[in-house]
Amino acid sequence: MAIRKLVVYPAEILEQPCSEISKFDKKLGKLLDDMYETMIEFDGVGLAAPQIGQPVRVAIVDVDDESGTIEMINPKILSTSGEQTGVEGCLSFPGLYGEVTRPHYVKIEASDRKGRSYTMEADGFLARAIQHEIDHLDGVLFTSKVTRYLEKDELEGVESE
Ligand SMILES: [Zn+2]
Repeated sequence: MAIRKLVVYPAEILEQPCSEISKFDKKLGKLLDDMYETMIEFDGVGLAAPQIGQPVRVAIVDVDDESGTIEMINPKILSTSGEQTGVEGCLSFPGLYGEVTRPHYVKIEASDRKGRSYTMEADGFLARAIQHEIDHLDGVLFTSKVTRYLEKDELEGVESE
C-alpha cells in the first residue's frame, strides 16, 4: 500500500465527471488499498478517486462506526429522504469547513472490489459522507452546496471527506 498525493483545489480533475470502472482487477484493489491508507494518513472520513488524481467512479467512506470501511465502485443513489444540515470539510480544501444541507437518508447501489453488486442504506453523518463522495465522482464539490462557512473558532473536532 502507498500513501498517494492529494489533489487540492483548484484542479480540473476535481470538477469533471469520472468514468465507470469496468475491470475489477488487482489494479482496482491496489487503488482502494492506497485510497484507504491516504484517507487515514490525512485523517479523513472519506475519499474519492479523483482526489488522488484518478478520474474513475471509486470512493471509500469510513466514519469510524460499525459499518467499517465502505468501498463504493460505480455507486448510484437509488433514493433519498429527509433533510439534515451539518458541517462538512474536504481533504481537497484544507482548512475549509462549511454547513451543507443534504438528505438525511440515502439508499445506494454500488459494487465491491470483486464486482459484486450491493445495496445499502444510511442516515445521518454516514449518509452525508456517502453523498459527499458520490458528488466527487460527478465533479461536484461541497463548496457549491455550502450555505455558511465556519470561522476558525468554530472548527474544533470537525472532520474532512
Ligand atoms: Zn471531499
